[in-house]
Amino acid sequence: MTRRLKAVIIDGETGGRWHRWEETTPLLVLALEETGIFDVEVVTLSDSSVVAATDAPDFPSYDVVVLNYDAPDERWSPEAKQAFELYVGGGGGVVVYHGADNSFPDWQAYNEMIALGGWRDRDERAGHYCYLVGGKVVTDDASGPTGSHGRRLPFPVMARRPDHPVLRGLPTTWMHHADELYDRLRGPAVGLANMTVLASAFSPPGNQGTGRDEPMLMTVEWGEGRIFHTTLGHDAMSMSCVGFWTTLQRGCEWAATGDVTQPVPESFPTATHVLYRPDVVERDPVYGAGLNPIDAVR
Ligand code: ZN
Repeated sequence: MTRRLKAVIIDGETGGRWHRWEETTPLLVLALEETGIFDVEVVTLSDSSVVAATDAPDFPSYDVVVLNYDAPDERWSPEAKQAFELYVGGGGGVVVYHGADNSFPDWQAYNEMIALGGWRDRDERAGHYCYLVGGKVVTDDASGPTGSHGRRLPFPVMARRPDHPVLRGLPTTWMHHADELYDRLRGPAVGLANMTVLASAFSPPGNQGTGRDEPMLMTVEWGEGRIFHTTLGHDAMSMSCVGFWTTLQRGCEWAATGDVTQPVPESFPTATHVLYRPDVVERDPVYGAGLNPIDAVR
């Protein structure tokens, strides 16, 4: 039997009131532990004092670092940033989960690792817009806001690299549960060979969207490292989607090892119908109380 993989989830700061790591980290832990292949630890960093290298996890002792974390540039010391860069550059695995692509707008290496980011006053200096036209990734130097989303509604996600280990065997289109559809992201690595868009979603103008096909799941190579970036999973409701859950589990394994050994789940959302985990929705303090997500946008 192969050894179990070691994962560490970093949280403690997720961009203020928008994202509640206290709610989402236990679900990330549950998802990883359910695979049976990960030992999972959580490191909660200070949201008020500078994170020194000794406060951060000992990165090289993990197979994958999962970032449920969104902090300003000055939160991490140069030494902590350097330790992370050495880890990733040397072949480490990273999972960038939802709002983690808001973090560290001026840390160049971090923005190369996430490939695309948004908010925190990012603008044209952050890089190009990136979207898909006819299934092909294009870049766009237009000016404008960086990072936006409409109301939280279900939307279909389309596989663009269905043969990639993360998506292999899954339906090529599935209806994602109510979530923020991130669009207008920008990044320095866009257009370079190190980013692959695994799945995309159309951002509807009727919901404040771009009218473009936007990247949802990506892989990035940085040095020898592997990064899996999922823009999905704003809260427990959106995380309850079997599509989110499965691609997160598989993306974590791929980031850790470069392959996926997990079986394809027996049931999966279809192109027209969501499939979600009631036991996960129950963890949501708003929707778990029975509110309709479409009526209870917050
Ligand atoms: Zn969000």
